[in-house]
Amino acid sequence: MANVTRQTYDEVMMPVYKPLEMVIERGEGVYLYDTHGNKYLDLAAGIAVNCLGHNNPGIVKIISEQAQKLIHVSNIFTNTKTLELALKITHLTGFDKVFFVNSGTEANEAALKLARRYAYEKYGEQKDEIISFTHSFHGRTFFSVSVGGQPKYSKGFGPKPGAITHLPFNDIKAFEKQISDKTCAVILEPIQGEGGVIKADSEFLSAVRNLCDKHNAILIFDEVQTGLARSGTLYAYEQMGVRPDILTTSKALAGGIPCGALLTSTQIATHFSLGSHGSTFGGNPLACAVACYVLDVISDKNFLQAVQEKSKHFFTGLNALKDKYKIFKEVRGMGLLIGAVLSDEYQGKASLLQELCGKENLLVLTASPDVLRLTPPLIISDKQIDIALELLDKACNNFIQACK
Ligand SMILES: *Cc1c(COP(=O)(O)O)cnc(C)c1O
Repeated sequence: MANVTRQTYDEVMMPVYKPLEMVIERGEGVYLYDTHGNKYLDLAAGIAVNCLGHNNPGIVKIISEQAQKLIHVSNIFTNTKTLELALKITHLTGFDKVFFVNSGTEANEAALKLARRYAYEKYGEQKDEIISFTHSFHGRTFFSVSVGGQPKYSKGFGPKPGAITHLPFNDIKAFEKQISDKTCAVILEPIQGEGGVIKADSEFLSAVRNLCDKHNAILIFDEVQTGLARSGTLYAYEQMGVRPDILTTSKALAGGIPCGALLTSTQIATHFSLGSHGSTFGGNPLACAVACYVLDVISDKNFLQAVQEKSKHFFTGLNALKDKYKIFKEVRGMGLLIGAVLSDEYQGKASLLQELCGKENLLVLTASPDVLRLTPPLIISDKQIDIALELLDKACNNFIQACK
């Protein structure tokens, strides 16, 4: 095999990402190893995907067993694993119907199309407005990215899909003013992930829920990032007292194998009729077998309890760092979706801090240019959290020096 290096990336890959200098070769638990054998503590977990860590033995076993039985048949035929996952996920969430896809984007694309179709069939074509919020992220297909609240991702691709309104997040007044009988759907993340780890206020969510009911608008929660135990409950909305009409989920669903889903009521689901939507790979038996395993592990109440306890431990340590260095003004988030917000004098420098963490062999994410984002594997131990905090402490020190 050809010898690959980080330079290979710049030579033959499209430059939409800017990966750190190392080239990852393998992983185990919360650790990743590069081609030189260097070990990294991974607080990114493939962007909140590797919930059970890297190369989890349970996941590896399921993949190899299922691969020997059946990998793919398409949706022209059904199969045992897709049906098992459908039963499990509807049972766990209390929704009636599920549609499987391969990614978060596709889950949201399906949700938005379904909402439009529902409103079109039930109320007429004038009811087409989709309301979303600034800084939100819903994926990268042209519809989902246009609905997302970050114009830098959607501009420059020609005419955008219409009837999309962006409002400030957590602003009840602006929402009350905008929503009407023309509103078809409202989509939001209970905690905006990419946008900066910004939690929805519960008063805002209940106002949104009430006004959606009043105007017959569908409420979609994008829990692609916040779902699947990341927040300390199976889905974040469980802690927020508001239930959506459509729930989208992906990222951690099959612990690293691409898988996603849209969940809703029978009443809404019937508006996707024969042939109105589809996917070749969506709900393939390999991904579904792994998702069944992941759901069994993470929906256990002891597992969820442990995530909540690790979260407390992490927040305590990060708040101590915040007091020590004054480079953060706030540590926020829920469960193990954590944002450390840079103080005013360090605004815009989250990538620099991320890079310096990398130099300490600690892998972290950013969310907006001002927020360091941590989404560790949910199986991280308290001891590994302590190690992470020590590495972060060093990186913070270097960050202050570098900013002088
Ligand atoms: C990651 C993410 C998406 C997009 O998911 P992909 O799997 O990258 O398509 C959509 N919404 C939210 C909230 C996300 O965090």
